[in-house]
Amino acid sequence: MDTPVRNDNDLLKKINWLMFFRVFFTVFLLGSTIFVHYRQQIVSPNPSLEFLYGIIVGVFILSIGYAVLLRYGMNLLGSAYLQIILDTVVVSLIIFATGCYSSIFSFLYILVIVNSSQLFFRKGSMFIAALSSIQYGLMVDLEYYGILKPFDNSRSLLTDDLTQVTYKIVITMVAFFAVAFLSSLLAEQARSSRKKLIAMEEHVRRVDRMAYMGEMAAGLAHEIRNPLASLAGSIQMLKEELQFHPGQEKLMRIILREADRLSILLSDFLLFARPPSGNVAEFLVEDVLVETLDLFEKDINCRRRVSITTDLIPRVRIAMDPVHFRQILWNLLLNAAEAIPDQGKIHIRMQNLQNEFVEIRIADTGHGILPEHIHSIFNPFFTTKPIGTGLGLSIVHRLLETYGGSLDVESQINEGTVVTLKIKNVK
Ligand code: ADP
Ligand code: MG
Repeated sequence: MDTPVRNDNDLLKKINWLMFFRVFFTVFLLGSTIFVHYRQQIVSPNPSLEFLYGIIVGVFILSIGYAVLLRYGMNLLGSAYLQIILDTVVVSLIIFATGCYSSIFSFLYILVIVNSSQLFFRKGSMFIAALSSIQYGLMVDLEYYGILKPFDNSRSLLTDDLTQVTYKIVITMVAFFAVAFLSSLLAEQARSSRKKLIAMEEHVRRVDRMAYMGEMAAGLAHEIRNPLASLAGSIQMLKEELQFHPGQEKLMRIILREADRLSILLSDFLLFARPPSGNVAEFLVEDVLVETLDLFEKDINCRRRVSITTDLIPRVRIAMDPVHFRQILWNLLLNAAEAIPDQGKIHIRMQNLQNEFVEIRIADTGHGILPEHIHSIFNPFFTTKPIGTGLGLSIVHRLLETYGGSLDVESQINEGTVVTLKIKNVK
C-alpha cells in the first residue's frame, strides 16, 4: 500500500472523526429501527429488524475493537483500511437486511467511498469503489438468481427483468467510481492547498523572526559603538602619553587597528540594517559624481594606483538623499579599486535611457568575480577579502531598493567587472 498521507497526526484525526461518525450513524440507525419497530406494532418476530439490531451491536463491538487496536499501536494506515473495508461489508449487510435490490440504503456505499477518499486519496478510494461495486453487484445477482433470499419478501425484485437489474447495477457502479474520482480530486486539492498554506505560514514566520533578529542585531550594534569609541579614544591617549618599548607599541597598534575595523563593521552593519530614512533632494548627478571622485582619488585605496576616466553627461537630475548616492558610489568605487591588484583603470560612463533612467556604468580592470560567487555577492557578510565586511553591496542594494533603482553586475575573470546602476531621473 502506498502512503498518501505523510502526516500521521492528520491521519489519526481523520480516523478518530470516522470512528465518531460511524458510532453516531449507528445510534441514528438504532433509533430509527426502534421507532419503526414500535410504529409497526409487530407481533410476530421480524427477522429483518432483528438482523439490523445484530448489525448495530456488531458495529458497536467493532468500534470498540478499532479503538483498542489504535490504543495498542496498530499502524494507522492499516487500521484505516481495515475500518473502511469492514464498513463496506457492514453496508452490504444493512442493504441485505433491508431488501437487497429494493433497499434504499445503497447510498451508504457512497458515504464510505467519500470517507475513503479523505483517508487514502485517489488510489485508495478507487479501490473502495471497486470493492463496493463487487459486493453490491454480487449481492443483487445472487438475489436475482434466487440464491440469496432477502428478508423483505414483500418487495421482491421478481418484477424486474434482467436488463433492468443490470442497468441498475451498472448505474450504481458508475456512481461509485464517479464519487470516488470527484471526492478524491477534492481531497487532493484540499491537501495541496493546505500544504501551500502551511509553507506560506512557515515563510511568514521566518521572515518575521528575521526582521526581529535584524532589529535586535541593529540595537546591539548601536550599543557597542559608543563603548568601542571610548575604548579606542582612551588607548589612543595612552599611546600618546606613555612611553612603550617596541613590542608594546606594536600591541597598541594592533588594538587600535582592530578597534577601527570593528567600528567600520558596526557602521556598515547599521547602515545595512537601519538605513537612515534620508532627506530626498533633487541634484545634478554629475556634480555629486565629480565630488565623490575627487575625494576617492585622494583615498589611500586609489592613490597613484588606479586611474579614473569618465564619460559624463550634464544636466541629468535625480531625486534621492545625496548622502545615500555618495555612499552607493563610494562602495562601488571601493570594490572596483580593491579588485585591482597593482595598476589599473576605472571607467565611469553615464547614459540617459529613454529619458526615464540614468544609467551609471562603473567598469574596472580588476581580477573579476568567479562565476560561482556572482550569485552570492549581494548576500550580507559575503566577502572574498581578508578584511572585508561583505556589507558594501548589500548596503548599495538596500539603498537603491528604497529609491526604486536597480543594480546589475557583469564580470569576466581576470579582465574586470562592470557594475551598472539604474536610477529614475527627474525630467
Ligand atoms: P566587501 O567589499 O567587504 O568584500 P561587498 O559587499 O562590497 O563586500 O562585496 C562582496 C564581494 O563581491 C567582494 O568580496 C568581492 O569578492 C565581490 N566584488 C564586488 N565588487 C567587485 C568588483 N568590482 N570586482 C571584483 N569583485 C567584486
Ligand atoms: Mg566592498
